[in-house]
Amino acid sequence: MKKLIAGNWKMNGLLGDRAEIEKLAGLVGKNPGCDIVLCLPYTLLFPAVKFLNKTAITLGAQDIHWAESGAHTGDVSASMIKEAGCEYVIVGHSERRSGHGAHGERSQTVAEKAKISLTHDMSPIICVGESLDEREAGGAKAHVLDQVKKSLPRVISAEKVAIAYEPLWAIGTGVTARAEDIVEMHGYIRDFLTDHLGEDGANLRILYGGSVNPGNAGEILDLANVDGVLVGGASLKADAFCGIITAAVAACR
Ligand code: PEP
Repeated sequence: MKKLIAGNWKMNGLLGDRAEIEKLAGLVGKNPGCDIVLCLPYTLLFPAVKFLNKTAITLGAQDIHWAESGAHTGDVSASMIKEAGCEYVIVGHSERRSGHGAHGERSQTVAEKAKISLTHDMSPIICVGESLDEREAGGAKAHVLDQVKKSLPRVISAEKVAIAYEPLWAIGTGVTARAEDIVEMHGYIRDFLTDHLGEDGANLRILYGGSVNPGNAGEILDLANVDGVLVGGASLKADAFCGIITAAVAACR
């Protein structure tokens, strides 16, 4: 299984940052040996698809609405991001699941978003993860598996779906989960997936996210059941993101 290296630019990036994206495309070359996606803000999708054409970098969005179209002021649909050139979309990121910013997304909504992205032939990256309180209270496994169960659409094409395990306390904090905690949680998720989906569950990619950088990516990407990473801060700079991609390619050898 090829590793998937996904960058999440969040609410960062203007047209002037085009040079950073072009630099990344130049650094990774035509055949990097892993799948690469940059999940950009909506405003950069149309311009980016033009200069990413014929590069190894695919385009993703950071969210979509679950409906095909309609009266949803300020939202963006699956067909809109598909038209803009997206092949991936992040759904259920903790920054959208949390009440902060008034999103408060529930797993059932996340499943609807994943479903409509598959309908439009795009790959959903479904994010799950526990808070520090949940971990300290011993509830991390139950919380994460409940999110996985409820966030997966009923009909899935395993090769198109990825789950990103992102402990909330590791996102943007500079604190990475310990290797043994990542292996343990990815193992729980893998067991759940194979129990419920059989062969498909064994082929679905499980990514880790939370303060991944070029210095720790090699160790993380070498761990059992880590099929890629979802990267926030370190994806904003071509050199740093390329360092993570290089680590992913080495982990595949
Ligand atoms: C994220 O945004 O999903 C993320 C993991 O961010 P960071 O890499 O900055 O922790």
